[in-house]
Amino acid sequence: MRGNADTQPMKRILILGGTTEARQLAGKLAAQAQVTLSLAGRTENPVAQGVPVRVGGFGGAEGLATYMTENRVDLLIDATHPYATRISANAAQAAGIAGVAAIALRRPAWQQVAGDRWTFVESPAQAAALLGLRPRKVFLALGRQELAPFETAPQHAYLVRSVDPVEPPLAVPDATYVLARGPFSEAGDRALLETHGIDAIVAKNSGGNATYGKIAAARMLGIDVFLIRRPQLPDMPSGTSVEEVLLLAVHGAAARKRGV
Ligand code: NAP
Repeated sequence: MRGNADTQPMKRILILGGTTEARQLAGKLAAQAQVTLSLAGRTENPVAQGVPVRVGGFGGAEGLATYMTENRVDLLIDATHPYATRISANAAQAAGIAGVAAIALRRPAWQQVAGDRWTFVESPAQAAALLGLRPRKVFLALGRQELAPFETAPQHAYLVRSVDPVEPPLAVPDATYVLARGPFSEAGDRALLETHGIDAIVAKNSGGNATYGKIAAARMLGIDVFLIRRPQLPDMPSGTSVEEVLLLAVHGAAARKRGV
């Protein structure tokens, strides 16, 4: 095992990723720890992560716990997307089973400001119902797996943006597909919304800057936004940014005691 200057063995850190922050964290921790980044394998051509990567599910919390024991993981970092509820629940449970310290990056939700025309919904299905009977032009800023409910509202014209192609396409008469990977700028999203005459957006409250462009652009253009409510995530020591989680990962309890 590699050691650092004072001959302490390097910490082995497993980062559950699939987000920009996970990639950034991995890069920053790589100099002082043995880092492995884990991806679910949803994206066909993920961006280079810059550290060793493993891909695919672990087989539930038990599987993740076994992986951590077998690979002598010292610290688990849950840096998955705020709507990736199963893996976050598994992370908390697996850390308990394997007796491994765990911390999380919990990205704060966007807050509504004056001019935002937000409606909070529980699910894509509820958003599809609330769009109403009158045909609208709807931008679906959701994952490929979350689009099916909109087939129950075929009266609307849909614009779908995704990293990989939506296969099979939605069974609706009017759907346009844009392939793109974030981050997205406000100016770019404004142009997209205007070009397609969008009057409603369905999105997650992902937080962060990378996908906020459409929210800011919608405010400027007076467009309705149906925001899927944030899911509940397990309680664990957490930071709200790469820098905060980095401190927790490196200094652990000491950093928490100082209230960082
Ligand atoms: P999920 O519903 O919470 O997880 C479903 C299953 O996928 C998990 O039980 C686990 O399988 C596997 N999995 C998820 N993330 C994994 C990871 N980082 N490494 C290894 N296995 C993982 O997850 P999801 O919402 O489908 O998200 C999948 C991935 O996409 C995550 O890495 C997430 O950060 C990223 N992502 C999600 C969203 C979103 O809106 N949900 C948006 C952007 C990026 P096992 O139980 O077999 O271990």
